[in-house]
Amino acid sequence: MNTATRTAFTEPDRPGDLLIRFITVGGSYVDVTGPGEHFDTNRWNCHGCGASPQLVQGDFLFSIRLDANDHATACRAIPLT
Ligand SMILES: [Zn+2]
Repeated sequence: MNTATRTAFTEPDRPGDLLIRFITVGGSYVDVTGPGEHFDTNRWNCHGCGASPQLVQGDFLFSIRLDANDHATACRAIPLT
């Protein structure tokens, strides 16, 4: 009997503007995408639960990185596809 509570799913394709990819506690992925460190239009999204930041315009990488990592640490959703 397999009692594992965390399974890594197949990694989705990496978009061209992918800056960071975190694996979540649920085995899904959180992507940080955008033009890079010196721009305030970077964004993150979770492949497991679909969450993304509420800021429409995005944010700087130093802020996005923390938020995305915090989400990955807490999110238990698994990808449904
Ligand atoms: Zn999530």
